[in-house]
Amino acid sequence: ETVIVLLTRDLRVHDNPALAEACEQARHVVPLFVVDPAIEPRHRADFLYAALHDLRGRLRELGGDLVVRHGEPVAEAIKLARQVEAGGIWAAADVSAFARRREERLADACAGERLDFRLFQGLTVVPPGDLVPIGGDHYRVFTPYWRAWSQAPKRRVLDPPAQVRLPAKVATGSLPEPSRNPFGLLKGGETEGRRHLDEWLRGGLAGYAEGRDLAAGRTSMLSPYLRFGCVSPIEVVARSADRPGGEEYVRQLCWRDFYYQVAHAFPELPRRDYRPRRAKWEDDEEAAEAWRQGMTGVPIVDAGMRQLRAEGWMHNRLRMIVGSFLTKRLGVDWRVGADHFNDLLLDADIPNNCGNWQWVAGTGNDTRPNRVLNPLRQAKKVDPDGECVRRYVPELADLPGSVVHEPWRHPARVPGYPAPMLNERLLS
Ligand code: FAD
Repeated sequence: ETVIVLLTRDLRVHDNPALAEACEQARHVVPLFVVDPAIEPRHRADFLYAALHDLRGRLRELGGDLVVRHGEPVAEAIKLARQVEAGGIWAAADVSAFARRREERLADACAGERLDFRLFQGLTVVPPGDLVPIGGDHYRVFTPYWRAWSQAPKRRVLDPPAQVRLPAKVATGSLPEPSRNPFGLLKGGETEGRRHLDEWLRGGLAGYAEGRDLAAGRTSMLSPYLRFGCVSPIEVVARSADRPGGEEYVRQLCWRDFYYQVAHAFPELPRRDYRPRRAKWEDDEEAAEAWRQGMTGVPIVDAGMRQLRAEGWMHNRLRMIVGSFLTKRLGVDWRVGADHFNDLLLDADIPNNCGNWQWVAGTGNDTRPNRVLNPLRQAKKVDPDGECVRRYVPELADLPGSVVHEPWRHPARVPGYPAPMLNERLLS
């Protein structure tokens, strides 16, 4: 019989549980991706399209192809199932409220058509919901989760299928091309993601613990590949855990699982303030726009915001600094920041984006509401030589030494660079 594997955020042939199982069990397999223009913002579309072209190439090498349809995923999957007389539709389980509603609609539609509907775990290292604290529904705090997670058994890494056998006469469908000047620093796809991972394990991981908190330091930059499932988190952990630097690195991947299990327990939570603030958020569009444009006059903040605009990525430390600046200094609602990140980050996803924003804003369920980062102290710590500011805020590149972090201390004004949006206390 024929099984359709509906691919969503698992755009890979390595360690893909739904694809591996279908190729093992079914006579024919249709790997399907439904392009739904409503889903990804324009900036992420290039990364996605590159990933789909790459996946198509890899599936062809295995004797199959990527079948592409355009429209609403549930309707298109069911339509195709009728055309190829499929016996089932299998997919990877997801956690966001949007994805879960889609899974439910697909399950209902499959039941109506007497199709075998199956969901496979593979989005995280430990499936969300597997670890439950005694007497609770989900872990609210990271450290106990990390302890339980470290000891939890991990599934073995699956090989790519030996062969993908498409049924006869299925139209493969056309894929959108990435634009000529794709947005962002990174190119999508499993091939690129695996190359990145190999290089990281060879040359980056050992220095991770020392370098990860420097804005110009190296981190793996695997987040966009994890976001679209071009690499499997289980494989990343399996290959890095026992190497020097591995423990610190694996701990970060556990943060990812942590936020996914929060979103799984409360799919609507990521957009809501768990711990509402006493004061209201400021409705200050002018301040928010200066922040978005990287024109706050605080160099480290502007460096991060301009890196985001130019590369579709931002270093974790800078994300924390710009997030704290927006919410704690400008008093703007964290959702304004999360929406902007969602528009521009190649790695943006609801659990990690909203989970981290809530952490920064102090409104989530594992937070210290009074945590405020001093942007000047942070700047000198994470960018001691001003390398990052000079790279992303070129109008400040000629300022000497640490004055680059406080241009207002320099006797000459830098033309075109604004006065800092900071209160007097911080400026003195
Ligand atoms: P590395 O340091 O190499 O870490 C390896 C992997 O661990 C990452 O790829 C990521 O999957 C995971 N990881 C690391 N730090 C975190 C963290 N704090 N929370 C969850 N997972 C983590 N990450 C996203 O993937 N998507 C987002 O939308 C996102 N939004 C963020 C918003 C804010 C305000 C902040 C402070 C952080 C956000 N992060 C987000 C977390 C983190 O900044 C990125 O995962 C990290 O910078 C990605 O770069 P990397 O792959 O080089 O990370």
